[in-house]
Amino acid sequence: GNDSTAGLVDPLTPVPPKPLIKSKSQISQELQTVRKSLPIWSFQSEIRTTIRDSDTMVLVGETGSGKSTQIGQFLLNQPYMSKMISASGKKYGGCIAITQPRRVAAISLAQRVSSEMGTTLGKEVGYCVRFDNVSDASTKIRYLTDGMLLNEILHDPELSRYSVVVVDEAHERSVSTDLGMGLLKGIVESRRKEKVPLKLIVMSATLDVEKMANYVGGTPKPGETSEEVIPAPICRIPGKIFPVEVFYTPVSIDNFQTAAAKTIFQVHYQYPCPGDILVFSTGSEEIEELASMVEELALQMEPDKPKLNVMRLYASLDPVEQQKVFVKGSPKERKVIISTNIAETSVTVPGVRHVIDCGKVKMKRFRHQLGIESLLVTDISQASAQQRKGRAGREAAGTCYRLYTEGHFKRLQKDTEPDILHCDLAGAMLTLLAMKSEHSMTTVNNFPFLDGPNHQSRVKALTTLLELGALDNKGNITKVGTKMSKFPLPPAQSRVIVAAGEEEEQNKKSEENVLVDVIDVLSCLSVDGNIILQPTRWRKTLAEPKKEVDPLLPQKKKKKRKHADDEDSDEDLTLEERVHSKRMDIVHPSGDHITYLNILRRYLSKRANEQKKFCQEYQISYPLMRKVENIRKQLRGYCRLDKVGDLPRDSEMKYESDTMVARYPRVSQEQTEKILKCFMAGLGVENIAKRAKGGKYRTLTSSGNTSSGVDVSVHPSSCLMWERSEHEAKRTKKDEGRSSWQRLPEGFGEAVMYQDVVWTSKAFMKCVSKIRLEWTTEVFEDLTIYGT
Ligand code: ADP
Repeated sequence: GNDSTAGLVDPLTPVPPKPLIKSKSQISQELQTVRKSLPIWSFQSEIRTTIRDSDTMVLVGETGSGKSTQIGQFLLNQPYMSKMISASGKKYGGCIAITQPRRVAAISLAQRVSSEMGTTLGKEVGYCVRFDNVSDASTKIRYLTDGMLLNEILHDPELSRYSVVVVDEAHERSVSTDLGMGLLKGIVESRRKEKVPLKLIVMSATLDVEKMANYVGGTPKPGETSEEVIPAPICRIPGKIFPVEVFYTPVSIDNFQTAAAKTIFQVHYQYPCPGDILVFSTGSEEIEELASMVEELALQMEPDKPKLNVMRLYASLDPVEQQKVFVKGSPKERKVIISTNIAETSVTVPGVRHVIDCGKVKMKRFRHQLGIESLLVTDISQASAQQRKGRAGREAAGTCYRLYTEGHFKRLQKDTEPDILHCDLAGAMLTLLAMKSEHSMTTVNNFPFLDGPNHQSRVKALTTLLELGALDNKGNITKVGTKMSKFPLPPAQSRVIVAAGEEEEQNKKSEENVLVDVIDVLSCLSVDGNIILQPTRWRKTLAEPKKEVDPLLPQKKKKKRKHADDEDSDEDLTLEERVHSKRMDIVHPSGDHITYLNILRRYLSKRANEQKKFCQEYQISYPLMRKVENIRKQLRGYCRLDKVGDLPRDSEMKYESDTMVARYPRVSQEQTEKILKCFMAGLGVENIAKRAKGGKYRTLTSSGNTSSGVDVSVHPSSCLMWERSEHEAKRTKKDEGRSSWQRLPEGFGEAVMYQDVVWTSKAFMKCVSKIRLEWTTEVFEDLTIYGT
């Protein structure tokens, strides 16, 4: 060799530029340094020995201390992780499950841990969430939603592939977490008896630790059969928290959006960078609105001010978008992260020094008055407020602005109540009942809940299942119920599929397959978020050519517009007009359900490279449509597996939608009726509202009565609220038949059915379709409609 000249640079060879992209080993080294700085790092051996000596343990530590990312890696090569064989010769173990209440968290944690370990996502480290499984037989650390864990227990009651199950975010007390813990207690016990132990670790940020330790229960010593409860061992990771100064508003405020925006700029002008701002808002729509507002106001800042980099964070956001919040910003700009309560304990955003807290949270709540579950904006608890405040003191001293008065804070409930006390339990009950045959302990009435749901919710859940035909009069699960339990959908929606399957079986070989169409609509409903983008989100996705601002523009435009009307050209329409006019091709006059079907049929009939363009033109979310396609495929798979209906093969799917669009540019009247009736069967009388005077609607109660019903309005996002633009009106006069605003037959709109209710200023129905009142007595036999 040439070793002696290795250090010399040949003057004729250009020096290669420094690589801008960090090498793999550089990244992994940096990640290792970060790992070692996490508070949990020094507790590694304590955690390992505790769970070696006991089958259960409770692990408590502040958000961001490293629990979710490190626990799996700590346990990976421990002796209790190896595969075991029971006396009967069955194989057990080898994998760690880590459950999350939110799918986003499961995905982003798996991504993070797999890059920390330098592996390919889906191999050693993977995830499994509803409709998306990125893991295989070699997976050792598997992040999954708590709902998916329940689904796995349905299929494998002993969870035989796992050596360890970690229940993360237990403090959130989601219904599935609570249910999962109850079931896991039983599984730990039965696997201990078979000498193929399953380890259970319950983790949380804030928790009534002793209560949880008693509930989970410790491991009795061999031969010990004490009647007393042995608590599970507890491991605490002390958190480092810097002081956070709290400010309240002097008077209570109504408009959180403007108050939040004002506070953001106040903080920005008052405190030098670095120090990012985290804003707690309620939901995706509020977040988008506030974010746009801040972005617009930021344009008016003096040029010497550091830039504001506005980021959104909510569960239905694209994971790629979400990942952006983890990136450390440059010192010359300030991140403003506007988030739901997902940033409260679930996601740790680095760099935050200022928190703005609106004091509200959007939660699923059971509305006894309406008889249905809906998303409701409610006050947070004091515990929640403290947790939010703490987000500002992770890295240095910080500030927290509460957009409410100190008096209001003092009146807040001390702790957040578990969901199980508020939510619709029908789905959970159905899962339990479907398991009953396999799990002797899981009868609904003696299930070991940490906090038992009250009598009223239990009765309500059982009544719902009875009404759906999932239970018989004796309370036993029916064939329909068993079929329903196999779908990863809420009972109302799985009932729709089963109803469509029945309809399809009766009407075999009819060209328009109801089951196919119902699955299509349900797929559109099953994505997080509306596939039809709302006007506030249009600008971002539509690449409009930027024009120079011309002071003469208003006049010019007017002149041109007049011209355009004559020529009937699309060119000079505003974005709104253009999209609206386009959308008139796909809207169905009955409402949202069939409009979704129209959209999906059109989308599927396009070639792959044209689908994106289609979405742009109609302002439909392309990423969501990709997900819809995937969900559709999986729901069809479940139908085949459980022998619901008779579906065409996957290879025919594309062809099928092509021909559908060619033959039926519009969904036929008859088919519309069949589809909507299937949905009614699942949604029940409670999701039907009858038209009252003045274009309003009033809900029916289960007896068919409207006099005790509630006034509800159609949500602005429904296509029933799309108005025909002036332009479109003119055009259709010329070109009758192009628009699908065909007339509906007599009686449509006497009543509506809806998927969801949201409460803002009043009760709004989301995803609404017009129906005929007489269908209600047809679908719900024995129902008489009273009142007006
Ligand atoms: P805990 O479970 O105790 O709340 P985590 O293990 O979730 O803590 O987080 C530990 C650290 O890893 C945090 O500082 C967090 O910012 C970082 N982290 C977590 N997930 C990601 C991710 N997907 N990308 C980048 N950093 C992440």
